[in-house]
Amino acid sequence: MLNHNKIEALEQFPTPFYFYDINLLRDTLDELKKQSDRFGFTVHYAIKANANHRILNEIASLGFGADCVSGNEVKLAIECGFNPQKIVFAGVGKTNTEIEFSLDKNIFCFHCESVQELEVINQLAKQRLIIAKVALRLNPDVKANTHAHITTGLTENKFGLSIEEVLEAKRILPDLENIALIGLHFHIGSQITNLEVFKELSLKANQMETELFPDSKFTYINLGGGLGIDYANPQRNPIPDFKGYLSTFKDNLNNTPERNVHFELGRSIVGQCGSLVTKVTFIKGPSTHQFAIVDAGMNDLIRPALYDASHRIINLTSNGEISKYDVVGPVCESADCFAKSIELPHVQRGDLLAILSSGAYGEVMSSRYNMREITGVVYSDEINTEK
Ligand code: PLP
Repeated sequence: MLNHNKIEALEQFPTPFYFYDINLLRDTLDELKKQSDRFGFTVHYAIKANANHRILNEIASLGFGADCVSGNEVKLAIECGFNPQKIVFAGVGKTNTEIEFSLDKNIFCFHCESVQELEVINQLAKQRLIIAKVALRLNPDVKANTHAHITTGLTENKFGLSIEEVLEAKRILPDLENIALIGLHFHIGSQITNLEVFKELSLKANQMETELFPDSKFTYINLGGGLGIDYANPQRNPIPDFKGYLSTFKDNLNNTPERNVHFELGRSIVGQCGSLVTKVTFIKGPSTHQFAIVDAGMNDLIRPALYDASHRIINLTSNGEISKYDVVGPVCESADCFAKSIELPHVQRGDLLAILSSGAYGEVMSSRYNMREITGVVYSDEINTEK
């Protein structure tokens, strides 16, 4: 993770840029591999969290699968080395083009979110004389206790099938000859830090499967992603508690030897390895309310504006006296604010700040709003920090 020792090496790069700590990414992947192997679980990386090619190559090289939410993500996953037979594809609005492409690439499974989608996948598979493997995404109505924008498993959310729709799907499935229903899929939300929520999900999944598919011989169940990271103390907790997370499912999910348990984690894999490094342009405001204006904006990292997210910010170039600052960007929006009234060592024009825990839903959500430059990227193994 970024610290003061890396300053000289970093100062040569134009700001703002994402800094990726490749060693931390590898350590995180090693721990996840160790824990998932120990429980016999399969993990797909949720590409939506960060689609940076270098990061995808690292993850694919260890044999993880990919979880995609668009045809272009499926395409990118294959280009970056993921085995199509380890790719799953979710999303409420898959287009014919996306489905056709994924069928032609022979991906492992479609996570189907509506009755109409089942019919369309069946029809497109039929045209190709193939059988498409499908899991039904069920809406378990479990509260994720996270921000409303990243809650997905409630009845009011657009995701998954309601009980009524599952019954309709069961009714028509015998006629859909080009579909093989292999199992069930759940994903209830993101940045979930209370493992009790995953216990609740396991119990709800048991109950729904028993009630809706009492005679099923499913070979697949996918419990989604959602494991949160420590945004408040990233340096103390750089690697999430994968053991606690996976053992919660091991202990609470009814499972059989024939059925493989899958997960699709995003944030917990890449969140802590990324920092957004930005330079202070100006300091302004009265002494009682100082603004540190930085050269990164909400277009580079939208999480604070979109999700009220709070990221730890450090001043890489100062050890001065502590003062309070609002850290804001240059974009013409009041929402362009990274933190309000936070304590930082004395900040002055030209200082480098690092916004930590920015590896997930950071670079991938960046835009050129206000016609700003595309955010730069620097990898830890490309800089010399020996000095
Ligand atoms: N799977 C699906 C279907 C998702 O929509 C998401 C993100 O919301 C994920 C997996 C990954 O979630 P997370 O990054 O919280 O692990």
